[in-house]
Amino acid sequence: MPVANTHPKPPPSIFTSLLKPTTLITLVVLTLAIFTSIKTPLATTRLANLLTHLTPPTQQQTSTMTSIYARELEIALLAVQRASLLTRRVFLDSAKGTVSKDDASPVTIGDFGAQALILTALRNHFPHDAIVAEEEAVALRNDPALRERIWGLVKETRLGDVGAEGLLGRELGDVEEMMDVIDLGGSAGGRVGRVWTLDPIDGTKGFLRGGQYAVALALLEDGEVKVGVLGCPNLPVDDAAPLTADVGDGEGRGVLFSAVVGQGATSRPLGESQLAEGKKIAMKEVGDLAGASFCESVEAGHSNQSEAAQIAQKLGITKPSVRMDSQAKYGSIARGAGDIYLRLPTSKTYQEKIWDHAAGDLIVREAGGQVTDTKGQRLDFGVGRTLATNSGVIAAPAAIHGQVLAAVQEVLKLK
Ligand code: AMP
Ligand code: MG
Repeated sequence: MPVANTHPKPPPSIFTSLLKPTTLITLVVLTLAIFTSIKTPLATTRLANLLTHLTPPTQQQTSTMTSIYARELEIALLAVQRASLLTRRVFLDSAKGTVSKDDASPVTIGDFGAQALILTALRNHFPHDAIVAEEEAVALRNDPALRERIWGLVKETRLGDVGAEGLLGRELGDVEEMMDVIDLGGSAGGRVGRVWTLDPIDGTKGFLRGGQYAVALALLEDGEVKVGVLGCPNLPVDDAAPLTADVGDGEGRGVLFSAVVGQGATSRPLGESQLAEGKKIAMKEVGDLAGASFCESVEAGHSNQSEAAQIAQKLGITKPSVRMDSQAKYGSIARGAGDIYLRLPTSKTYQEKIWDHAAGDLIVREAGGQVTDTKGQRLDFGVGRTLATNSGVIAAPAAIHGQVLAAVQEVLKLK
């Protein structure tokens, strides 16, 4: 016969009470109440950011599975948009003559300011990623007046929308921190891990003359470009605007190009606040090369213009080249405003910098183009800070790239 249990039932433990349905419901309601009582978008964003950081890595990976690199793209777009605001302001200030002749060049101010703003956002969100950026703060450390001037601009440059600005994270505290952040861009790059690459003002000559320049940011992973963003403040918003040397002289200027590997390329108006809606872009189909257009550097020292003219002639291209500064060339052909971009070496020793090409390379390839060097090899961003194994750049719609490359190799006597 079983022995009756004579022990009294123990009182329920605190855990058992917590697991009761009524207690659980109360906890959920309380949490929701706390969340909904937070009204400002900035506070909500900060809380969301905090929660993201507190989330275990496995859960974060699961949440980005549906849209890979979505967070990187959003931060890169907003950071480039904010930095473009600063460059525009520097240009307007210098055009108004508020900068005296003996003051620092607007390029210097814009370069350092844009780099400080973008690297702050990257540091906030991706503190473990390496960064290869064009500028280093040594010149600022030796020049108090210059660094104060730049700091004045950096601390005042914010996106118009509090939520969008909040997404970029903590602002810089002081001028010393600004210089330290600028110096985060000194990585040697390479083939392993995540590396951001930044040209804060690509096409400095274009920037100075009020022509084309670009704020160029890209993420490499194990040497491959995964995300590319180009802010082009002086290109027309209209993707269909014909490509001419004075493109963007009219109204409606400012475009943000972007691409994520395997997800296509996009353009959207470059705004001052939240991100505008993006639309997919694609390279133009070139039926007859006689009607094709090609673009090249304004600077004869950056690309051999007489060889480019011979190549165009060989291909039967009748239009004169469109000369423009910066990676705006990549963006322009990616959206079909132009067709071909030629960059022909002017010296045997010059090594192209990765920040001058990474964003543009991905945007063109994701828009249906092919990008190689003059030897027909893909640009290799995993070698270090430069494209040491490449020589020049040939970018064209995939269907005609082979034909263009053959003409390049004939003229350059590479075959
Ligand atoms: P672009 O506006 O297309 O002419 O390119 C501007 C970039 O050319 C600058 O960011 C420089 O890094 C780069 N550059 C400087 N010297 C040379 C050179 N000798 N050949 C090619 N590119 C150069
Ligand atoms: Mg550059």
